[in-house]
Amino acid sequence: MTGKVFLIGAGPGDPELLTLKSVRMLQDADVVVYDRLVSPEILSLAPTGAHLVSVGKSPDNHPVPQERINEMLCNFAQDGLTVARLKGGDPLIFGRGSEEAAYLVANNVQVEYAPGITAAQGVACVSGVPLTHRGLATGVRYVTGHRKSNGSLDLDWSGLACEDTTLVVYMGVANIGQIALRLVAEGLSEETPVMAVAQATTPRETRLFSKLGTVALDLRQAGLKAPVLFVIGKVVTLSADWTAHELDILKPLPGVSATGQQAHA
Ligand code: SAH
Repeated sequence: MTGKVFLIGAGPGDPELLTLKSVRMLQDADVVVYDRLVSPEILSLAPTGAHLVSVGKSPDNHPVPQERINEMLCNFAQDGLTVARLKGGDPLIFGRGSEEAAYLVANNVQVEYAPGITAAQGVACVSGVPLTHRGLATGVRYVTGHRKSNGSLDLDWSGLACEDTTLVVYMGVANIGQIALRLVAEGLSEETPVMAVAQATTPRETRLFSKLGTVALDLRQAGLKAPVLFVIGKVVTLSADWTAHELDILKPLPGVSATGQQAHA
């Protein structure tokens, strides 16, 4: 009898952000095929005896090609196994879950989804930065900052440069400088607030507050560790840490007053 594949969203990292449905599916699995972004804490919830297969990295650091993953999932299911395919965040947001599902369905393998908390939602809740907020952002857009091999970043720049909408950039580290330049060229202020959150919802999380004009430089200096998500827009000012960041910029150098005059001891 043919098995089936559960396409499961594992959320951004914190195991408490898994849905009950994801956990139930994971615990039914004979084989767990997981991505680089799935945390060890989540993998520890797999049933004892389940076969764990990493497809995020091979020994020489290259991810397993997508075609190979498709075939692997299909072969396991055709051998009668129940497969949990664990993906970071949500399987249908920049996760190629739909490509895997299409291949499996074309090969008569049954597929079931469990949605996951996408990185943007995880980042919003840990930072207290809402993605929409009355008076600051009437909507939110999720975009990828990743270029197809050697291609250009093919985004709707004039549409994205909207100061009343929050912009969330996935996979943006390598191209954030170019993204910021294009947004400014289309009319966004260089002062537009930016928050970058690395390894959100894990014990290793770090955050950077910056502005469009300086984000590329600030990011290089801060050396955040992947994965990193960028939130761009006025909503970033709602973070308590944003206020501290602004005060830090305004803080006078030791011995010099805010007006540039020498302070009296
Ligand atoms: N399906 C995933 C996205 C996969 S694309 C989701 O729904 O979240 C990979 C990108 O997701 C990373 O480059 C990063 O931008 C973002 N990302 C995923 N997990 C993250 C985390 N814990 N912290 C910060 N960014 C994260």
